[in-house]
Amino acid sequence: MAFLELIGLTKKFGDAAAVSKVDLAVEQGQFVCLLGPSGCGKTTTLRLIAGFLTPDGGEIRVGGRVLSRAGSSEPPERRNMSMIFQSYALWPHMTVFENVAYGLRLRRLPKTEIQSRTDTILAVTKLHMLRDRYPGELSGGQQQRVSLARALVVKPETLLLDEPLSNLDANLREEMRIEIRNLHDQFRYTTVYVTHDQTEAMTTADLVVVMNQGGIDQAGSPEDIYKRPASEFVARFIGGTNILRGIRMGNDAVKCANGLVLRCDSGDFAAAGETAVSVRHHDIELKAERPPGDTNVVSGTVARQIYLGSHRDYLVEIEGGEKIRAVAPVSVDMPTGKSVWLYLAPEHCRALAR
Ligand code: ATP
Repeated sequence: MAFLELIGLTKKFGDAAAVSKVDLAVEQGQFVCLLGPSGCGKTTTLRLIAGFLTPDGGEIRVGGRVLSRAGSSEPPERRNMSMIFQSYALWPHMTVFENVAYGLRLRRLPKTEIQSRTDTILAVTKLHMLRDRYPGELSGGQQQRVSLARALVVKPETLLLDEPLSNLDANLREEMRIEIRNLHDQFRYTTVYVTHDQTEAMTTADLVVVMNQGGIDQAGSPEDIYKRPASEFVARFIGGTNILRGIRMGNDAVKCANGLVLRCDSGDFAAAGETAVSVRHHDIELKAERPPGDTNVVSGTVARQIYLGSHRDYLVEIEGGEKIRAVAPVSVDMPTGKSVWLYLAPEHCRALAR
């Protein structure tokens, strides 16, 4: 039995389902990211887990105990969970120390315990030097650190984070996500983290849950999701990819309208008829001469080339008019208008039936 279970979880606003029949099992101590585009239901799922919303269908269980089901929901304060918001939600009239200690005061713990637990967490989150400042006297990153300290001081079993870094600049975001993962590893609570940023999800999570239109398209390790996307949506959302369409040929190939036959070493060939094939930009080889072999090779013309320091980004128009994006080493320098060959190796071609 998993620690946190969502079973057929459904939430509607009016007639529209924001979350629809979601099933998810999270192990104790796991770091899970709910990842997906705006409006796909991530925040609603998180708020259901926190107990701020009551589901219309399905259940939420923690340690086998039902916390939410249709029409009834244990309130947030009775769940051993802390939530962190994008807006930090700090008390402006309280110092850093008072903000962090607030949750312990509410629990009426002895003064000495409040003092020592708050001191410890301020040290862990590198806030001890700022303990007497007010939120208005802190940078965005420092404020987010205070909200982390405040969430952790109550020793939650589960930490819920809703886009916690979206107000920070790129460098600070990178630093903070490493810190959030380090704190998770140090205290081993279960983390559910909502983000629309795939890099954030890939660098922090043990389990990435890709959501699409209120449901889960795929849940897996970052490597699974990247290397073995289960749907066209996941392939496109995680990393740059080309999607080519064709008709299935035998058990391992797809024939595109322009005659290009793509042998695919992986994917789903279960469905007959039209199949999409995903090939990542950086897995395509760009060549001046025709590579050997009858399959996975197509000719084209360079439509655009951008020099990006560490690589060149190409757009190649292939036979039939379709455009393929390919990332090549800087040493592969083909000018716009040049005739080229593309090799899409079978080990990088993944058939997607859905
Ligand atoms: P974002 O990344 O933009 O925050 P999200 O994936 O977190 O998006 P949700 O906030 O869960 O998405 O919203 C899912 C859907 O439910 C959206 O279509 C949204 O408009 C709708 N929705 C969310 N909250 C409410 C509400 N209180 N009333 C009506 N509709 C809502």
